[in-house]
Amino acid sequence: MARTILHCDCNGFYASVECALNPSLKYIPMAVGGSRENRHGIILAKNESAKKFGIVTAETIGSALKKCPNLTIVPPHHDIYEEYSERVNAIYRDYTEQVEKFGIDESWLDVTGSLKLFGSGEEIAHIIKERVKKEIGITISVGVSFNKVFAKLGSDLKKPDAVTVLSEDNYREKIYHLPCDMLLYVGRNTAMGLKALGINTIGDIASADERLLSERFGKHGKMLSLYAKGLDSDPVKSYLDEREVKSIGSGTTFPHDLTTAEEIKTAIYSLSDTVAEKLRAHRLKCSTVQLTIRDKDFNTITRQKGITPTNALHNIATECLSLFNTRWEAGKPVRMLTVTAASLSDTDSPSQLSIFDEEEKSEKHEKVDAAMDAIKQKFGDSLVFRAGNMFAENKKNTRE
Ligand SMILES: [Mg+2]
Repeated sequence: MARTILHCDCNGFYASVECALNPSLKYIPMAVGGSRENRHGIILAKNESAKKFGIVTAETIGSALKKCPNLTIVPPHHDIYEEYSERVNAIYRDYTEQVEKFGIDESWLDVTGSLKLFGSGEEIAHIIKERVKKEIGITISVGVSFNKVFAKLGSDLKKPDAVTVLSEDNYREKIYHLPCDMLLYVGRNTAMGLKALGINTIGDIASADERLLSERFGKHGKMLSLYAKGLDSDPVKSYLDEREVKSIGSGTTFPHDLTTAEEIKTAIYSLSDTVAEKLRAHRLKCSTVQLTIRDKDFNTITRQKGITPTNALHNIATECLSLFNTRWEAGKPVRMLTVTAASLSDTDSPSQLSIFDEEEKSEKHEKVDAAMDAIKQKFGDSLVFRAGNMFAENKKNTRE
């Protein structure tokens, strides 16, 4: 049976939330990012009037200030964004329980079973969009289609505050002329590889010989061919399945390749900090850490290690660093890193691998971390910095 899938994307999410909290920011060029002083920090989100100055996400603050010297820069408030994200998703769940989050500001909704109740996919998209605007104070763009990949693409086609329908009848005319990298999972490198084969548009991918794509890109190539032809059959997961946290990860693609030991250490500590903080927020400990490392050619390795249950930054970071040092050739450039905590258990459950010394050390670190969380909660993130947390603004939740 044909499916009706929505992809809802909050527009300039961090900036929109800041503007909803403080409406005076709405009409001046404003961006969320690190401080003005740290010009190497990056822009995480910008509002519409900053967009008019040509400011783009992920550029450095220094470069943004050149384009717009009066730009107001607001530091990020991640806990508030989490809270807004939850409120927005609660609205989505009024229309279906098949709500699958894709990062903090995007979700897929399968509304096939809700059409009789609420109207067509397009009508439901408009209802949800207006509710989010009225009740939360931010805008979303929605793609409506018969599979996840096209729904996602639809939400990118027109924004902010818009609905785009890609139906079985119109998708060829609406997307086949678009560049390959607008399709989900076509990164810079894949796009370059496709270009070398003379494949420049999504339509070109659809009409390309599937065997050629498989030969050149392996499984990924076959997948892209199916996607471009509208044959993505991946189901939208239910939010009920997603509630059970199986692992917690944080990863980032760096604006430049990391090569020095110092850079690697800083990055691993920064990612581990996010992971440890989330573990503590969920009252969980992990007894497996996993590190994913990718170079600029998309060669990726993932290595993991069992450890004494912990949610302390120091323990997680040290283990990941040792994984890195034993598994990666020193000096070989690193494009992306992800730290993941798995084999999770409740904080209160007794730990089985109790080696007394390690436990004690671990407890000490956990206490320091808990104290830092408390201070952050009271005074906000900006007051407490660990030395060398220079990638903090560039973090993204893992999306693969
Ligand atoms: Mg967004």
